[in-house]
Amino acid sequence: MNQYDGTAAPQPRLDDGERERRRERAAALAAELPVKDVTAVAMTWVDTSGITRTKAVPLSRLEYAAAWGVGMSPVFDVFLLDDSITQGRYAGGPAGDLRLHPVLDRLVPLAGMPGWAWAPAERFTQDGTPHPIDARWLLHREVERLAAQGLSVRTAFEVEWAVSDGDGEDFVPACNGPAYGMTRVSELSDYLRDLLRALEASGVEVVQIHPEYAAGQMELSVAAEDPIGAADTLVLVRETIRSVSFTHDLVASFSPKVAPDSVGNGCHIHLSLWQDDPAEGGFNTMAGGDGPCGMQGTGEAFAAGILERLPALLAIGAPSVASYLRLVPSHWAGAFACWGLENREAALRFVTGPLGDRNQTANVEVKCFDGAANPYLTLAAALVAGRAGVDGEFTLPEPVDGDPAGLDPAERQRRGIHALPSSLEESLAAFERDTVLRDALGEALVDTVAVVRRGELALFQDATPEEITTATRWRH
Ligand code: GLU
Ligand code: MG
Repeated sequence: MNQYDGTAAPQPRLDDGERERRRERAAALAAELPVKDVTAVAMTWVDTSGITRTKAVPLSRLEYAAAWGVGMSPVFDVFLLDDSITQGRYAGGPAGDLRLHPVLDRLVPLAGMPGWAWAPAERFTQDGTPHPIDARWLLHREVERLAAQGLSVRTAFEVEWAVSDGDGEDFVPACNGPAYGMTRVSELSDYLRDLLRALEASGVEVVQIHPEYAAGQMELSVAAEDPIGAADTLVLVRETIRSVSFTHDLVASFSPKVAPDSVGNGCHIHLSLWQDDPAEGGFNTMAGGDGPCGMQGTGEAFAAGILERLPALLAIGAPSVASYLRLVPSHWAGAFACWGLENREAALRFVTGPLGDRNQTANVEVKCFDGAANPYLTLAAALVAGRAGVDGEFTLPEPVDGDPAGLDPAERQRRGIHALPSSLEESLAAFERDTVLRDALGEALVDTVAVVRRGELALFQDATPEEITTATRWRH
């Protein structure tokens, strides 16, 4: 057991053999196309506030970084979105050093930033054990816990972003066409084409791209992967969108609320729960059963587990003060704790997919999460909630059709449909009370999340919606 965490999970250690394997792999990759031609490798991790931070090495240094990592302060765990720094019980202060190791399996040149490659990073302590509050590591641990029960998850994030002209201060929509309008694609056809080319060159499987509802807003969906792969892909997709935007003199905002009076940017997560590994004949528990909408018992229990904990999960998946300007009824953001078949106003939207393909496609979409969230942490927390549902054999309540905001409050009460937290303060309180999440994620993570959320609440204590959106707009 270490000082951070009472869960006593096994801690794989980077021993000499593993360091040597990583060094050799990096040497081979650096000598071959496509990596051979790059000048530098950017290693990224996502902080508690949801900001992707980085350290880069020249390609000649990749071998060393793969074996021994690159030094960086653990203080980033308590950075706030304005780069001010708070202090927790387990993180903070100027002392200490972690080692940032590139994940070589995901190393890829960035087509939107010629000469650069990218790799997500894992953070280790100096003695070679994983940093216990590293979000990627926490997700890895949750994936393993599900695997120990013969379960695996296929998942993908949907990315919504708003494209702006200008200098990155005010938001000036880069296109004027209508929502979902082909006009917007015509206006931005070079940009969107370059974006798709860049993503393809980086190995991202895009399944759809389209103009969204709000001014200048776009959306892109990618193919489902294992949870760690999906979170890595989200980081790669966002950084590619950002860099391709810059090369077209545009600026991308992934903020939950770009302008105070508009629909915001969501970052919905689609999840399906598989019994056994899909690559080895496993099957999707969200189809082919006799439960609601064809779910099998395990799939239903997993979805019900997430539904049950949504108020607490919001402290991770809707982590910013601005998140609650987005999460309002009748904006397709999912402001009510309920589920429904294809219902875009339910926080949990069940998607069956077309008849004939449901064994592959049926999934549950969590709509209430947004682009300020750390994707690794969000998935880790969602998997904890889903697993608790499976362990407790949870069942779903009646599904909801239509907009719950349109129901009489007494009717909502009768059907057990509750509004989700309308402030970060409220979701943080639910998160801190939640012993299942606390036990699984560990005290250190819970404390670190809590101090960062409190820090951001204090930053915006007397702020107007305009001030909050302005301060958040270009940060994630
Ligand atoms: N932009 C909406 C949100 O804030 C989602 C629209 C949709 O259903 O895709 O999440
Ligand atoms: Mg959308």
